[in-house]
Amino acid sequence: MDSISQRDGRFLWHPYTQHRLAAPFTSITRAKGSYLFDESGTPLLDAISSWWTTLHGHGHPYIAQKIHEQALNLEHVIFAGFTHEPAVNLAGRLLPLLPGDMSRLFFSDNGSTAVEVALKMAIQFHQNQGRPNRKKILALQHAYHGDTFGAMSVSERGLFTQPFNGHLFPVEFVDIPTEENESWKLPSLPWEEIACIIYEPVVQGAGGMRMYHLPSLEKLLTQCKDQGILLIADEVMTGFGRTGTLFASEQIQVLPDIVCMSKGLTGGTLPMALTACREFIYEAFLQEDRLKTFFHGHSFTANPIGCAAALASLDLLQDAACQEQIRLIVTCHRQKVEQWKSEGRFLQPRSAGTILALEVEDKENNYLNTRKEAIMQMALKKGVLLRPLGNTVYCMPPYSTNQEELDLIYRVMEMI
Ligand code: PMP
Repeated sequence: MDSISQRDGRFLWHPYTQHRLAAPFTSITRAKGSYLFDESGTPLLDAISSWWTTLHGHGHPYIAQKIHEQALNLEHVIFAGFTHEPAVNLAGRLLPLLPGDMSRLFFSDNGSTAVEVALKMAIQFHQNQGRPNRKKILALQHAYHGDTFGAMSVSERGLFTQPFNGHLFPVEFVDIPTEENESWKLPSLPWEEIACIIYEPVVQGAGGMRMYHLPSLEKLLTQCKDQGILLIADEVMTGFGRTGTLFASEQIQVLPDIVCMSKGLTGGTLPMALTACREFIYEAFLQEDRLKTFFHGHSFTANPIGCAAALASLDLLQDAACQEQIRLIVTCHRQKVEQWKSEGRFLQPRSAGTILALEVEDKENNYLNTRKEAIMQMALKKGVLLRPLGNTVYCMPPYSTNQEELDLIYRVMEMI
């Protein structure tokens, strides 16, 4: 009998993978807590929360139980013309926890669609209010917002977008605001034509775990707000505790008008996404004229099982034990950064909440860096799943990760 990996090689096409060059894939048969287990039962510490999704550890019995109960009762129903309790309960529960005064939730399926919804909402918001010329979008250099066309358009033009650049809509890119760099202040920006700005609050993820100088970001956002530009916080990665606060936007003085969420929303168990907005945005769509409707939706919008998982994840997230775990990871990361700085080890060791990152090379980030493969393979041999972003090596462990497991992750990072 062929192995899973051999059968995979005949049928499947994996994300972000050059199959001609890829090392054989590890087949994972089960997962529990912070560990994945391969076919031979060997544990692998999931130091990147399986693409930043898993919050409370894999196979959490409480979330699994809630998913099971919901699947038996109502697994799915069209969300146009119909509603259900899990969606309403999730909105009632989550909205008060969001940064700012969010009052409406729009469901979709993944981080990219949450971003598409946000951009469409912002553009049509201005159009519905008789400002059709306000349709340009501002985004930040090095941003990553997803792989669909709208999300690619507002992301850094580079390796990922290169074959499609000719098909992406134009976007005004602004330098990352830093203490030194305030070039975004240039009056050449066509402020009155800009509908919205999209940004990853506190830290840019796929762009290399870049952590902002927050007062500079705040200045940029204040300037945008003053110009009537809607602020879209992409919390797809940063949401649900990753940066130490429930949402990263809580650490920024200027609050968003729209928030995108996915990944940790269901505790990382099921694909689901949300775009939250403030009431005045929703109100711009409340008109007798049917052309002012927000014509967007997906087959699995507000899937009840996903909602049940999200509610269960919130129960766990708000529990004191989880908050304690987050504090532990934040503190350990901070101490490690201080230690590495004092030892002069690594380039730019840094942390933001439960995210710890460093650079292995002092040059422009290169996603195709071959050292990345070697680092990943070395870590796998030591029982830890790391997946560097080009020159950036980072960890973002699930909140189930304990002190001993954190120490193992740090030790493996120190072997680089
Ligand atoms: N926004 C951000 C900030 C992300 O980090 C990601 C995914 N890494 C996305 C959007 C896209 O999410 P998805 O992969 O679920 O489409």
